[in-house]
Amino acid sequence: MKKLEDYVRSIPDFPEPGIIFRDVTSILQDADGLHLAIEGLMESLKDVDYDVVVGPESRGFIFGVPVAYEAGKGFVPVRKKGKLPCETISAEYDLEYGSAVIEMHKDSIQPGQKVVIIDDLIATGGTIEAIIGLIEQLGGQVVKICFVMELAGLKGREKLSGYDVESLITYE
Ligand code: 5GP
Repeated sequence: MKKLEDYVRSIPDFPEPGIIFRDVTSILQDADGLHLAIEGLMESLKDVDYDVVVGPESRGFIFGVPVAYEAGKGFVPVRKKGKLPCETISAEYDLEYGSAVIEMHKDSIQPGQKVVIIDDLIATGGTIEAIIGLIEQLGGQVVKICFVMELAGLKGREKLSGYDVESLITYE
């Protein structure tokens, strides 16, 4: 029987020379791969008390929404600058390659809500650090952060000390 990691395709030199890109489309296009990923995330959250799932554009949507749906929770998107129609708060952060600005609706998290963050992958941790900042600015409490994949060599976890972090697959 195949494991989740068997469905990940690794592409050398994408999007820049020297980077090995871990592709999730090869997980998603296979019914068994998709099932393993969502069930793995559900298992990570089975003992967690939470109110809402937050996921960043765009692969955080793909994995966050099915988990929220299956758990009977709501889903809050984090989007790139200029996409959300109502009042927003924003944060700028550095990526593994480049920088970006992300936004959340001001009314998307209520003070005291327990929040789970889901994304496909943690590299440097810059994206998730920025998202935690936005959630906490809105009064939310981050109770767990789940990734499908972790690039441990980039030490993103060091930015998340004090938070409960779990990854389904770890690459050194
Ligand atoms: P970080 O902010 O942790 O450096 O970067 C994580 C973000 O970049 C994630 O939202 C993720 O989607 C994207 N990312 C960086 N490297 C990869 C990769 O190798 N594969 C995939 N699927 N996403 C990546």
